[in-house]
Amino acid sequence: MTVNGFQVHDRFSAGAQYIGGRLRPGTSGDVQDVVNPATGETVFSYRLAGAADVDAAVAAAGAAFPGWAAATPGERSDALHRFAGVLADRAEEFAYAESLQCGKPIKLSREFDVPGTVDNASFFAGAARHLQGQSAGEYSGDHTSYVRREPIGVVGSIAPWNYPLQMAAWKVLPAVAAGNTIVLKPAEITPITSLMFAQAATEAGIPDGVINIVNGVGKVAGEHLVGHPDVVMTSFTGSTTVGRRVAEIATAGVKRLHLELGGKAPFVVFDDADLDAAVHGAVAGSLINTGQDCTAATRAYVQRPLYDAFVQGVADLMNTVRLGDPFDASTDLGPLISHAQRDRVAAVVDRARASARVVTGGKAPAGDGAYYLPTLIADASQSSEIVQSEIFGPVLVVLPFDSDDEGIALANDTPYGLASSAWTRDVFRANRATREIKAGCVWINDHIPIISEMPHGGYKASGFGKDMSSYSFEEYTQVKHVMYDNTAVARKDWHRTIFGDR
Ligand code: NAD
Repeated sequence: MTVNGFQVHDRFSAGAQYIGGRLRPGTSGDVQDVVNPATGETVFSYRLAGAADVDAAVAAAGAAFPGWAAATPGERSDALHRFAGVLADRAEEFAYAESLQCGKPIKLSREFDVPGTVDNASFFAGAARHLQGQSAGEYSGDHTSYVRREPIGVVGSIAPWNYPLQMAAWKVLPAVAAGNTIVLKPAEITPITSLMFAQAATEAGIPDGVINIVNGVGKVAGEHLVGHPDVVMTSFTGSTTVGRRVAEIATAGVKRLHLELGGKAPFVVFDDADLDAAVHGAVAGSLINTGQDCTAATRAYVQRPLYDAFVQGVADLMNTVRLGDPFDASTDLGPLISHAQRDRVAAVVDRARASARVVTGGKAPAGDGAYYLPTLIADASQSSEIVQSEIFGPVLVVLPFDSDDEGIALANDTPYGLASSAWTRDVFRANRATREIKAGCVWINDHIPIISEMPHGGYKASGFGKDMSSYSFEEYTQVKHVMYDNTAVARKDWHRTIFGDR
């Protein structure tokens, strides 16, 4: 399948670095293959960015900053509305490219990744005109104070491979809506849709240099970007391990930092829950994007009376999921991002076998792609690796609990705190779960939906700061206190504390 004859090599023959509104090759001297994980075929090879490319991108972003920061909110809003329009016009091409580089089922790319990105662009087009702050006032009596909310400068962002297009949108849109310019480093194995995203911005009339993309490896381009003296902020989405390294570099430079890190979302089923809904929710919530989703349901805690029926129901439904060619519209589950990631998931499951029960799945199907069967694991202990560590594959682990107190305590018992859900028809239980679960999101009777108007971000080792929604402007703006004297006298009342008497 191709869309309108779209060929990655032709589209990016000039190179895979987008700097100052044009493509150019990377200068690191190293070449990266982009592999379709469904087939193992290389679909694109490109020259990786080195430090010099990062320097050029930061310089382009720095040159574009004064003009873009000075644009009126209305002008930025108009540009982002046009951007949303270009993205919508290209929806099918984006869906194709995203499925090609990630192995995502085309229905997921078409119905989730691409419309979510278009909606995010529309949201930030509106939000650009609605930056909020405190109202002005005479707080001291003798002065008028107000707050200016200002863009901060050149932002450096680093994104993971699981949702390359949406991550580009989440990083770029709030930053530029607020008047910043940006250099984004996507994951090196999934460069394609971030480049297309930046090209679409140019086509929509967003000035050259406002959005720049460097495709390079983390140790080289990533670390250079974070530490660059002209980059004022780092916004990072990725694993907690790499997030720690990014934080070290950013902190040494006294830079603003926004970290969206790993997750291990609990899925708590109380004994009054709609069992059928919980079973459907658990399968969808754990298998979305082949489980490579930081908010995916990974730990189901089920109150004892529903436990056996839940385990059976989830196993039965998992066995109906159709693995296959990502470009077949009926495929439910695609491969993992790479064979290495598939092998990593398989190794975690194999280690769990010693002390837990694989109810269904637990192996790769025959064939070339990086596929792994939907997997349900029971009888694991709360302290085991399979319960505590992020796996990032189509694997759900299920444990029973007795009291409500125990269910909530287990839900909170990992280092992570990104997302969670509670399943109940009792409003008091639901309300308690929303108060007591320590995570950036608590769903009630659902798991996964996100929406542009609402913030996304972690508690605990899942990071800090928010993507999406107006809350993201807190990351990408700084507030300045402006204070005017209203007395017009030389000897002000407060001077007596320094010299003379009243
Ligand atoms: P990763 O941490 O390995 O890589 C993320 C990005 O960091 C990539 O662009 C990579 O090139 C770069 N990088 C690697 N080493 C670096 C370094 N030393 N300095 C600077 N940059 C470096 O993560 P991944 O494997 O690409 O993605 C999966 C992870 O992302 C999971 O842990 C998942 O939970 C997390 N994630 C979190 C969210 C969220 O919103 N919290 C969303 C999506 C993914």
